[in-house]
Amino acid sequence: MALDSKVPKGPIKDKWTDYKNHIDLVNPANKRHIDIIVVGTGLAGGSAAATLAELGYNVKAFAYQDSPRRAHSIAAQGGINAAKNYMGDGDSTYRLFYDTVKGGDYRSREANVYRLAEVSSNIIDQCVAQGVPFARDYGGLLDNRSFGGVLVSRTFYAKGQTGQQLLLGAYSAMNRQIARGKIEMFNRHEMLDVVKVDGKARGIIARNSITGEIERHSAHAVVIASGGYGNVYFLSTNAMGSNVTAAWKIHKKGAYFANPCYTQIHPTCIPRSGDYQSKLTLMSESLRNDGRIWVPKNMEDVMAIREGRKKPTDLSEEERDYYLERRYPAFGNLVPRDVASRAAKERCDAGYGVNATGEAVYLDFAAAFVRYGSEQAKIKGINNPSKEEVIKLGQEIIEEKYGNLFQMYEKIIAENPYETPMMIYPAVHYTMGGVWVDYNLMTTVPGLYCIGEANFSDHGANRLGASALMQGLADGYFVLPYTIGDYLSDDIRTGKIPTDTKDFDEAEKEIKDKIDFFVNNKGTKSVDYFHKKLGKVMWDKCGMSRNAKGLKEAMVEIKAIREEFWKEVSVPGGSNEMNPELEKAGRVADFLELGELFAKDALTREESCGGHFREESAEESGPQKGEAKRNDKDFAYVSAWEYKGEPADAVLHKEELEFKDIELKQRSYK
Ligand SMILES: Cc1cc2nc3c(=O)[nH]c(=O)nc-3n(C[C@H](O)[C@H](O)[C@H](O)COP(=O)(O)OP(=O)(O)OC[C@H]3O[C@@H](n4cnc5c(N)ncnc54)[C@H](O)[C@@H]3O)c2cc1C
Repeated sequence: MALDSKVPKGPIKDKWTDYKNHIDLVNPANKRHIDIIVVGTGLAGGSAAATLAELGYNVKAFAYQDSPRRAHSIAAQGGINAAKNYMGDGDSTYRLFYDTVKGGDYRSREANVYRLAEVSSNIIDQCVAQGVPFARDYGGLLDNRSFGGVLVSRTFYAKGQTGQQLLLGAYSAMNRQIARGKIEMFNRHEMLDVVKVDGKARGIIARNSITGEIERHSAHAVVIASGGYGNVYFLSTNAMGSNVTAAWKIHKKGAYFANPCYTQIHPTCIPRSGDYQSKLTLMSESLRNDGRIWVPKNMEDVMAIREGRKKPTDLSEEERDYYLERRYPAFGNLVPRDVASRAAKERCDAGYGVNATGEAVYLDFAAAFVRYGSEQAKIKGINNPSKEEVIKLGQEIIEEKYGNLFQMYEKIIAENPYETPMMIYPAVHYTMGGVWVDYNLMTTVPGLYCIGEANFSDHGANRLGASALMQGLADGYFVLPYTIGDYLSDDIRTGKIPTDTKDFDEAEKEIKDKIDFFVNNKGTKSVDYFHKKLGKVMWDKCGMSRNAKGLKEAMVEIKAIREEFWKEVSVPGGSNEMNPELEKAGRVADFLELGELFAKDALTREESCGGHFREESAEESGPQKGEAKRNDKDFAYVSAWEYKGEPADAVLHKEELEFKDIELKQRSYK
C-alpha cells in the first residue's frame, strides 16, 4: 500500500486553516448517534475524550490505572512549549516550527510540525482557562524558561509538576463530561485488541483487570492514546506500567509502525545504583537552565572523588571540565538531549565518570546560587552581603524554581544538592517512534486514530524538551476533534455497531486463548526475568550508540529470548481475578516482538540522526568531528513497517520527507 500522508496543498501557514474550512462536519444532532472509543486518558487521550464529548459524541474512555489522574503524563516535570513570545525574545510560530524540525534532525513531517507550532498558543489559553496554575512572574504574568536546543524562553511551567497540573486540568474537563453521561469511563480496563469490521476499526476487546472478565466494546471510530514504549529497555524514566501493547496490537491488525528505533535518552537522570533496580528517575531538563555540567579535568581527581578522598566542591574552576560549554559554546548546557547524552557518555567512556560505576557526571548549581543571590541582595538593598548571605539568597530562588526536584534528589541519593552537585547520567525517557499516522492522525487502518506519544508524532529523530506535552494536548484538544469529524461524517446513518458478530468472536477468542496459555504454562522463569534480559540487549546494542554488528546480534538474541519466553514463562495466579503478573506477561510478549523490529529499523537506517547514532556514520574531520552524520540523500524518509508475522519479516514502506520551508542543514550547536 502506498503511504499517503494527506498533507493539504497550499502554503504551509495556510494549510491547517484551509483544511478546517473545507472538511465535512457532523451536525450536533447526529453526533449524538456516534460512538468513539478512546484508549488512554493521559494528556493526549484525556484531552481528546473531554473535547469529543463536549462536541456531543458518545465517548467510551479506557485506562488500565484506577483513575485518569494516574496516567504517566502526571510525571512530566519541566514544562510545555508555546510560541507566545511573552518574553519578547523574538519567538514566533515559525521559530517554534523551525526549532522543532531542526531539533528532530530533519526527520519529521513539516506540515504537522507547523500545525503543532500554530496551535501551541491555544493550549496555554485553554489550560489557563481550566485553572492550571502556571508559574507567574513578579507582575503576575505567565513566566517562561528555556529548554534545550533553542535560543528563546518559551516553556510554560508549574514548578517541577507541569504534567500533574495539566493532567488535573484535562481530568476536570473529562469529569464534567463523565457527570453529563457523555463519557463512560472504564478504569482498570486494558485494551487487548482492536476489532475490524469490513476493514474499518469498529471496536476493541478489553480485560477488566479487577474481575478478569473479557469485554467487547464497539464504536464508529477508535482512538489510541496509550503513550510511549520506552520500557522496552526495562529500565527507563517511564511509569512502570507504560507499555506498547495497544500500539503493537493495532500494528498486528494493519497499522504501520514508524521509526521504532527513534528513542530519546535523556541526559539528566539519577544514575543507576545496582542490578536490582526496576525504575530510573528523571531530573528535569529545566535544571540545565541554571545547572552547569562538568567532570574533573584530571584523572587523579576522578579517582580521588570515587575513593572518597576528595569532594567535588574541593575542585577549583580550573580543575573542572565544563565539557558542554567547551564543545558547544553557542548552546552550552542547553544543547538538545541527544547531544548532551552522547557527550556525557563520551566523558564517562573515557574514564571520567564520577561515581563508583563510572557512569555519572555533575550538575552543579553553585554559580546559579551566586548569580541569583547577588541580584537578590541588590533588589533587597543589602550592601556588601557576605558570601554566605549571597548563597542563601540564591538558594531561595533556586528552591522556588525547582524545590521539589531538589527534594526528590535528596530522598533518592541521600545527599543535599544545595551543598554538593547532583550526579546525573543519561537514561531512556521517551520514544519518538510509534504508530504511523497521516495528517489527520489516522493510522493505515480506516477509523483507527493514534495520538500523543503513541504515534510517531512530530518530533522526528529527537524530541526537544517540553514538546511532548505540547503535542499530546495539541492532538487531543485541537487537532483530532476536527479531523475525526471529517471521517465520521460518513457514519451518521450507520447506527450502533453490534458486538455479537464473527469479527468480535474471533478477536475475543484469540485473547482468551493467550490468557489461558499464560496461566497454564507453569514455566520456570518469571516475566521480569525475560524483561530484564531484553532490556540489557536493548541498552547494550540499541542504546546511545549503535553499529551494524551489534544490531544484527540484537535481532538474533531478542528472537532467542522470545522463544525461551514462550516455553519457560511462569505466571502465578489465575485469569478470573486481579493478576498483575498476567498483565505484565502480555505486555512483555509484545515488547519482545517490538524489540526485534526496533533493532531491524536501526540496522536499516545506516545514517546517524537525532537519538539514533550509528557509529559508522560520524563526521571524521573538521569542526564537527565525532558528531552525528546524517545522510539526506538516502534516508530523508519515515520508515513505516508493515506487520507480516515474525518481526524480521516486517516490510518497509517509506514516506519520503519533503522540506519546502526549511533548508536542510547540518545540525550544529557550536
Ligand atoms: C519523568 C518524565 C518527565 C517528563 N517531563 C516532560 C516535560 O516536562 N515536558 C514534556 O513535554 N514532556 C515530558 N515528558 C514526556 C511526556 O510526559 C509524555 O510524552 C506524555 O505525558 C505522554 O502522554 P500520553 O497521553 O501520550 O500518554 P500517557 O500519559 O503515558 O498515558 C497513556 C494512557 O494510556 C492508557 N493505556 C495504555 N495502554 C493501555 C491499554 N492497553 N488499555 C487501556 N489503557 C491503556 C494508560 O492507562 C494511560 O491512561 C516526561 C516524561 C517523563 C518520563
